[in-house]
Amino acid sequence: MRIDLHLHSSLSDGAFVPEDVVRFAHKTGLETVALSDHDSISAFARAEAVLPAGMRLLRGVELSSRFEGTEFHILGYFPSDVGDSFRAYLSEAQRSRRERMAEGIIALRARGLSVTIEEITSRFPGSESVSRSHVAQYLVDTDQVPSLAEAFERHLKYTLDVIPRTRLSSEGAIALILEHGGLPVWAHPSIEAFDAHVRTLAAAGLRGVEIYTRRRPGGEAAFCEKTCDELGLLATAGSDWHGNGRRPRFIPLNYDDARLEEFLSHFPAAAGTRRTGAVALAAPQTP
Ligand SMILES: [Zn+2]
Ligand SMILES: [Zn+2]
Repeated sequence: MRIDLHLHSSLSDGAFVPEDVVRFAHKTGLETVALSDHDSISAFARAEAVLPAGMRLLRGVELSSRFEGTEFHILGYFPSDVGDSFRAYLSEAQRSRRERMAEGIIALRARGLSVTIEEITSRFPGSESVSRSHVAQYLVDTDQVPSLAEAFERHLKYTLDVIPRTRLSSEGAIALILEHGGLPVWAHPSIEAFDAHVRTLAAAGLRGVEIYTRRRPGGEAAFCEKTCDELGLLATAGSDWHGNGRRPRFIPLNYDDARLEEFLSHFPAAAGTRRTGAVALAAPQTP
């Protein structure tokens, strides 16, 4: 099985339109993918429209959330359409992003940088979710900072209090995804954060953890697998690919096929292939 359940498109802060992400992924040999844009689920319909036969596409979204003064990302994977109330939530989240960004840009100008919200939105016209990555890219493109890393370090990291953070809590993000029929999965946790907080999030209804990421060494993955087994959490694999460097090159991940099969059993099979798993969701785990 070749799988990547965490890809971004230009509908949030990825480099490529959803149609191209799917084409590139197919060409590279990926069999199952999920587009999981920040606060946007619109990539699914566009990717589905060009999906090659036999390729499997999951509906995903990534929500930023607050947890004890830090930011955790919660992925939501939905076996069927999300419905109007979740779409309304996403529109509101996109509006809140623009508002927070406009506020942050005033602070960036006070720091001597030349930027307006109009310049950011006109440079990334397809995006539904304006983000710090867009601002970082803009600052690099206009030679105001030498690199994306430096843009974050000097101006954009949350500890500098320049761009206001989301008000959604991690528990709130989990509840929201469950309420709309999705599986909430903790995206790319550091091993320290995982160890310290996975029990709290599991008690809040978390259903899975993105264990297999591009940076996780084997020993860490084994520790995460053991803890997830104790807590009844599923495991997922995702590279958080944004088309970095604007290249259609995907990042190979090491993962346990059987664990991924278990996660995928909650979703419809690819068109034209036999349905092997249950589609219905198990009840959320209670503390
Ligand atoms: Zn993330
Ligand atoms: Zn991501």
